Amino acid sequence: MKTFPMFLKMAGRRVVICGGGAEAARKARLVLKTEAEILLVAPELDPELAGLVASGRARHVPAAGPGTFDNCILTFIATGDEAEEEALAAQAHAAGAVVNIVDRPGLCDAFTPSIVDRDPVVVAIGTEGAAPVLGRAIRTEVETMLDPRLGAFAALAGRLREAVAGAFEPVQRRRFWEWAFNGPAFAEHRAGRERAAADMLKAAIAAGAAPAEGGRIALVGAGPGARDLLTLRAVRHLQEADVIFYDRLVDPEVLELARRDADRVFVGKEVGASSWPQAKIDALIVAEARKGRRVVRLKSGDPSVFGRAREELDAARAAGVPVEIVPGITAASAAAASLGRPLTERGESDACVLVTGACRPGDPAPDWAPLARAGTTLCIYMGVARAPQIAAELRAAGVPGATPVEVVAEASTVREKRLVTPLEDLPQALQREGIGNPAILLVRHGKPAAAAGLTTVA
Ligand code: SAH
Repeated sequence: MKTFPMFLKMAGRRVVICGGGAEAARKARLVLKTEAEILLVAPELDPELAGLVASGRARHVPAAGPGTFDNCILTFIATGDEAEEEALAAQAHAAGAVVNIVDRPGLCDAFTPSIVDRDPVVVAIGTEGAAPVLGRAIRTEVETMLDPRLGAFAALAGRLREAVAGAFEPVQRRRFWEWAFNGPAFAEHRAGRERAAADMLKAAIAAGAAPAEGGRIALVGAGPGARDLLTLRAVRHLQEADVIFYDRLVDPEVLELARRDADRVFVGKEVGASSWPQAKIDALIVAEARKGRRVVRLKSGDPSVFGRAREELDAARAAGVPVEIVPGITAASAAAASLGRPLTERGESDACVLVTGACRPGDPAPDWAPLARAGTTLCIYMGVARAPQIAAELRAAGVPGATPVEVVAEASTVREKRLVTPLEDLPQALQREGIGNPAILLVRHGKPAAAAGLTTVA
């Protein structure tokens, strides 16, 4: 580390910004958030800086003179005149200020970091001036990680700090704060119920103990594979989990986002069959939650779509364990995105049906006729293995053999494969291209007029 991060106390100190242009304005915007006095030194100011002076938030002098750098903690210099910048830096140094000359890293005492501001929580990202663009990219990632209300909750915690110190011994105190920041109080606050959050914290302080936290289960949608198709809420659950139960279809990229010390249990579900019977999974997630653990049941796509979520919800509710669903991006949506074509198209498909191609053993095949009426996009999950039967059943239900079928395997991952084929050639095309599970079939049974239009265009 050639530089060392510190947080400077700004109240009652002066920040001098030399220069009146866009760079000076950028620095002023950063300093504005602090309690420092701002002094602008420039013959002329751009309208934004002039506005600061007019509002009384900054003072302005046309040139540096005696006393300019008095009580100065930090100086930003951006006049564009090298000799002048060096002279100003010397004056600032003589007054004991830390100096930053914009775009002249060799002459800087310190660099401004990329900042994520959840005042009083502030995250500063530095690259020692080597890669500011990277710093900004990291800032964007951190921005998405930190709830917008985090600052307000931290401020509330700060106001209660003394009361907590008085009410708890050190070990209990740590437990209280862990509960406060990971438990239901912060969840209430995030949901906009600030009063309820504060009441929960105060009740715990009055009781002298953080309430024992019961376990809970979240059925979390892992999305189709790509890790940036996970929701922010899913990431939060992964990072809070004590134990994660996941399937074969969950991409390892996604698991990497889990808390490092969370237990991970592979429950090895294959499509249509499972090496772990569903009842065993149900019993296990409930048993773990009953130990007071935060259980994540991570499922590919959206947990509500062909995910056996019903059994797990029932098991949790029967045991009185709190359970919630965190939705995810389902394979059909991911496939549409990969194809660059919507699932519904005005005038052509006004219905979109999610249907499974693999029923429970012994169940009759789906009755395709009402599902496959013209104007429907059929999204067939788990259909690859039965593709020859499905194609035959659809044709028997009146879907023309020339109807286009789009197949997307492993949508959104680096292994993705795509294929478009007429329905009558579907089984052969799958074989030719070597496409297996997991893949989704989109059958576009357009309206007659629209279908004719498509033929003309083709
Ligand atoms: N809950 C999941 C579906 C689970 S059923 C969801 O919402 O997506 C399993 C089937 O989903 C697979 O047989 C396949 O048809 C489909 N599937 C899951 N992930 C997929 C992916 N990345 N690409 C294409 N199809 C996928």
